[in-house]
Amino acid sequence: MKTISSLAELFSFLNYTPDNKFHYALSKCEICEGSSFTVVRSHQDGGNNTLLPASVTSCNDCGFLMQNPRFSDSFYDHYYRWLYPSQRAKSDRNNEVAYVDESGESTDAGFHNQYRRAQSLHRYITDVLRHTFRSGANMLDVGCGSGGFLSYFRESGFNCLGNDPDQSAVSYAKGKGIDIDCIPAEQQQYPSSFFDFVFILGSLEHCKDPNEVLKRCAISMRKGSLILLEGRTYPLSHSTKYLNFNHHRFFRQSHMKAILVKHGFEPILSTDDQICGGDSGRSGMGYTFGLKRHDHANHSDAFARKSYLSNIRRLGYVESPATLIEMLNIHDSNLI
Ligand SMILES: [Zn+2]
Repeated sequence: MKTISSLAELFSFLNYTPDNKFHYALSKCEICEGSSFTVVRSHQDGGNNTLLPASVTSCNDCGFLMQNPRFSDSFYDHYYRWLYPSQRAKSDRNNEVAYVDESGESTDAGFHNQYRRAQSLHRYITDVLRHTFRSGANMLDVGCGSGGFLSYFRESGFNCLGNDPDQSAVSYAKGKGIDIDCIPAEQQQYPSSFFDFVFILGSLEHCKDPNEVLKRCAISMRKGSLILLEGRTYPLSHSTKYLNFNHHRFFRQSHMKAILVKHGFEPILSTDDQICGGDSGRSGMGYTFGLKRHDHANHSDAFARKSYLSNIRRLGYVESPATLIEMLNIHDSNLI
């Protein structure tokens, strides 16, 4: 494994030229707005057997794992536009199910995989979660990719909407007669109190601002409606691969629940069972369902932050950096 140590080498590796507005700075914790962190890993896997000098930190107040410091938006725009598709094509997950071809274009295999996952998910919601939808319920797939979930749920009588910033995935879906908004989820705008079901499967790790995404989702959802988040909740491979450069943040079950509470949802069920099918190529993923209970609350002032932190501590949705580091060290040593 090659290890890159300087930012200059990193830019050269990624073919990126910083502009005069470039910055590389610590961000606040995206869960609790804290600004004190412990470095968990100093490097992340950037593909091509290369470790990149981008550290992953854990928030000292709630434990949330984030890539921190963060680069400028232009850096991530460049990465996702020019490099992510080919990185994704070479990923372990893509070896299990070829979601994209060598050039990063969506495939029929990926679409059918999504369709089958949607079938399993619908069965789980009905049979295990025992949640029922009204006839013609409105649903939204945030980061819907090539639209396999939308296709299944539309055939099952739902009124379906979806969005994704990936132009090639959206073009593929349009070829199947599925209309998708080609936008980043931070820009989504739907009628308020409209949706009965919103799901975000594996996308919240990639977006620029998960709070803006969840805020907009919450506004567009009816009281009592269902939300589902999917995150890579536990490591299968080495920690530098688990905490890889493709992801800006890493949602364990505790932190999916914590961010749902922040946006007015009540977490009702968390599971690491493969609810989208055991052969779906999603091993390592966990799921948290929530119901919309309250309107969005502002956590930016000190009093609101303190009360939110004590609430998620009481609920057991915080972790400590030391525990997470120990967990990852034990995990890595067991792999050798
Ligand atoms: Zn935090």
